[in-house]
Amino acid sequence: MKIIMLGAPGAGKGTQAKMIAEKYSIPHVSTGDIFRANIKNGTQLGMEAKQYMDQGLLVPDELTVKILLDRVANEDCKNGYVLDGFPRTIPQAEVLDKALSELGDQIDYAINVDVPDENIVKRMGGRRACLSCGATYHIEHVPPKSEGICDSCGQELVLRDDDKPETVQNRLNVYHEQTQPLIEFYSAKGVLKTVDGTMDMKEVFEAIVTILS
Ligand code: ADP
Ligand code: ADP
Ligand code: ZN
Repeated sequence: MKIIMLGAPGAGKGTQAKMIAEKYSIPHVSTGDIFRANIKNGTQLGMEAKQYMDQGLLVPDELTVKILLDRVANEDCKNGYVLDGFPRTIPQAEVLDKALSELGDQIDYAINVDVPDENIVKRMGGRRACLSCGATYHIEHVPPKSEGICDSCGQELVLRDDDKPETVQNRLNVYHEQTQPLIEFYSAKGVLKTVDGTMDMKEVFEAIVTILS
């Protein structure tokens, strides 16, 4: 099963993608997590990506497409995967589509997690991230057991640089301009499913499971 998560930054794509990955035993592939891991390890790719990410801009397609195609070519992806944060532009979607069709394959579901901008701005300020293991929390909705510390790995949680309010607005603008057109792209392919992302995260997950089964 090959699934794409669509939605604004902060809509809950990552939260849902992790639950889907666990339930269906497929890898959760997040381009944002791959970039953050590279930044943390000080790689060339990380240094290039950071310049864009800190401004709330997209990392150029050339860089992004290559790392994604390498990742999904990995053995663990052969029975499917859930993509979180990719594609984010029409050209990225076209490259993925082409790579899959060359293998006689295609995306099964594009799940659009729909959340209005007003809710997004509130959510992002409360998001806390573990840059070590990729776990995500929310100070009100998903607090860690011990304040500021990751439940899974014990590392310190941070407010991501790009989750500061001034950058969130840029990211929303970028989303509407460059990523939202993908809703039409996957709708035309007949694989788009929309869920109401303002519900409680368990309810959102139930709606997704109903679609997938
Ligand atoms: P995305 O991957 O789309 O950027 P996340 O999954 O990281 O979004 O979620 C953004 C923030 O909102 C996180 O702090 C997360 O814990 C919280 N969150 C996710 N889903 C919900 C929900 N349904 N209701 C309230 N908060 C949520
Ligand atoms: P969120 O879902 O909260 O927006 P992500 O972790 O998916 O956050 O992405 C963080 C940043 O990483 C994006 O704002 C962008 O700069 C970069 N990024 C991630 N995925 C892509 C992509 N597919 N194309 C271009 N840039 C990307
Ligand atoms: Zn952690």
